[in-house]
Amino acid sequence: MLIQPVVTQMHLPAGMAGPEPMDLDVRCFIVPHASGVTIVDTGPDKSASRIADKLAEIGGGWGDVTDVILTHHHPDHTGGLADVIEHAPAATVWAGPDDTFPVSVSPAREGAVIRGLRVIATPGHTAGHLSLLAVEDDVLLIGDLAGNRDGRLVRAPEPFTADAAEAERSLQKVTLLDFARLLPSHGAPSDRQALRDLVAAR
Ligand SMILES: [Zn+2]
Repeated sequence: MLIQPVVTQMHLPAGMAGPEPMDLDVRCFIVPHASGVTIVDTGPDKSASRIADKLAEIGGGWGDVTDVILTHHHPDHTGGLADVIEHAPAATVWAGPDDTFPVSVSPAREGAVIRGLRVIATPGHTAGHLSLLAVEDDVLLIGDLAGNRDGRLVRAPEPFTADAAEAERSLQKVTLLDFARLLPSHGAPSDRQALRDLVAAR
């Protein structure tokens, strides 16, 4: 079964991500596997009902959630974490060991494979930022390393990126991976060629 996005619309007022106000969506993902589902990111605060709706849509529920993987510690990706843990207390929560979280998480290290998702350490946006390669699906979940704004793949807004040079090295790293489709955490799906074009254009 395909990876399912859970989409939340956001509005950033002028001055937050740049001089202009910005409307964007933030996505977390439900990744079905052989014995349940993995949730990648938990969305902003109050996302649990949207996640529950999507679980129901694919014929599942909270009891199917075996793992939660966080791409990084920013609040639009982790705001729903406490509620998700409450609904799925048996799930293992994973994240990059160099990010900090209000709950204890299991370290998701480079090369580890969690329910078919290979961990790719992609620091820069945050120190512990990670991407996930869904090998069977030919998909890279790229977190906030790049986003899709109005049909164009772009880097995350600079005010939100901790180390732009390191993020650039991570972008170059993931262009070498083998995948076809790209799922950013902000904006619609994209593909590997768009990512290559983005990196080459710098
Ligand atoms: Zn972020």
